[in-house]
Amino acid sequence: MSTQFFAAGAASRPDAVVVGAGLIGAAAVLGLAEAGLRVAWVAPPGPAVPGAADGVHPGPGDGWDSRIYAVSPGSIDWLSSVGAWQGVDAARTCDVTAMQVSGDDGRSGIGFDARDARRPRLAVICESSNLSQALERAVARHGEAVTRVSDTLADLRIGERVASVGLAGGTTLRAPLVVAADGGGSTVRERAGITVERRDYRHTAVVANFRCTRPHHGVARQWFFGDAVLALLPLPGDRRSMVWSCADDHAAWLLGLGPQALAAEVARVAGGDAGSLDLLSPARGFPLRLQRVSQLVAPRIALVGDAAHAVHPLAGQGMNLGFGDCRALSAVLSARGPQPDPGDLALLRRYQRARAEPIAAMRLATDGLFRLFASGLPGVGRLRNLGLGWVDRAPLLKRELIAVAMA
Ligand SMILES: Cc1cc2nc3c(=O)[nH]c(=O)nc-3n(C[C@H](O)[C@H](O)[C@H](O)COP(=O)(O)OP(=O)(O)OC[C@H]3O[C@@H](n4cnc5c(N)ncnc54)[C@H](O)[C@@H]3O)c2cc1C
Repeated sequence: MSTQFFAAGAASRPDAVVVGAGLIGAAAVLGLAEAGLRVAWVAPPGPAVPGAADGVHPGPGDGWDSRIYAVSPGSIDWLSSVGAWQGVDAARTCDVTAMQVSGDDGRSGIGFDARDARRPRLAVICESSNLSQALERAVARHGEAVTRVSDTLADLRIGERVASVGLAGGTTLRAPLVVAADGGGSTVRERAGITVERRDYRHTAVVANFRCTRPHHGVARQWFFGDAVLALLPLPGDRRSMVWSCADDHAAWLLGLGPQALAAEVARVAGGDAGSLDLLSPARGFPLRLQRVSQLVAPRIALVGDAAHAVHPLAGQGMNLGFGDCRALSAVLSARGPQPDPGDLALLRRYQRARAEPIAAMRLATDGLFRLFASGLPGVGRLRNLGLGWVDRAPLLKRELIAVAMA
């Protein structure tokens, strides 16, 4: 990948500047390069993605990245089509072949099996560092079409024909399109005047990896306890990855426990499903919020990933939604035909229309589930547990739910 800066002249100008070095920034760069655009990638110095600091893989059984993701089959299909999934180290991933969700009465629940969807798996569990390295390798294959600029965006000005991205290091990049992949607190979004509605869940997701004495058989387990959700996701061998979303004070207590006390608490709450546990990675906490933007595009600007939406991780879909953004944006740009301007607002609105429904559906589903389980209204607890059992016995509805989660 070239590291040269673009000269100021229009001839050497990139077609797009992508801001942000998370998984979605890398995926956006790749999608745009695949669509034939020349891209300047503004990536802050340091680890490529948050969490990647855990590692270059030091070897099996050790050094596992505590940021793990459930990657949907739909995302895998797209990542394969742009040459990235082939670079994922398959020995460090685990197929989810079934999922079991339990209600808070200890009896009700709902099970999903990949065989119901006639697919080999419901999702693949993959470390953040494994995925980001695969994306970076795929981007590198685009050679001179992508220039990586190790800097951060400090300023943004939107002109009639180009947007100017002022970098903290003093350089200015000019391009007809700026793609914001700079996360939930996006500066691009703010400078473009796109407003965001935020709701703090006052919950934190505590993540950690464990070695467990009972085998997982590729089954992802999730327990709803009122407004808290504990998920244990299968990793290769006898490892499982935990995402425990709970009220901030409960999360602070969990994060303050020593390794053995935390492992014992998770084993207790999981009701023996995982056997006894050994902590493999330090527990980390991520505050949770819901974010909804007023628009996905503005003149010369497109938002992707968490810059465009933030949802509760209970369905493990935020990053998958971001890959969907990258896929839709690159499809619109590569199908633009004689339209030479990739930042043309009418073109960008096509991207916005394509993403409106999937984003709204995911926001409603995750927020609705969270509110349903958090509700303290009398009778709601019994109703939602009955509902889980009812859906479990409705094969057509279940198949529909699986199809949405796999997209
Ligand atoms: C506990 C938890 C579990 C999750 N599990 C799943 C899951 O299983 N499956 C799933 O699909 N999703 C999951 N998600 C959601 C997923 O983590 C996010 O949707 C995804 O990481 C968003 O990626 P992003 O690249 O858009 O943003 P980020 O990862 O926040 O990256 C933003 C990037 O922009 C850079 N940046 C910021 N400001 C600037 C600037 N001014 N200039 C240049 N660069 C800048 C940052 O340095 C960073 O590199 C989970 C989320 C949580 C909290």
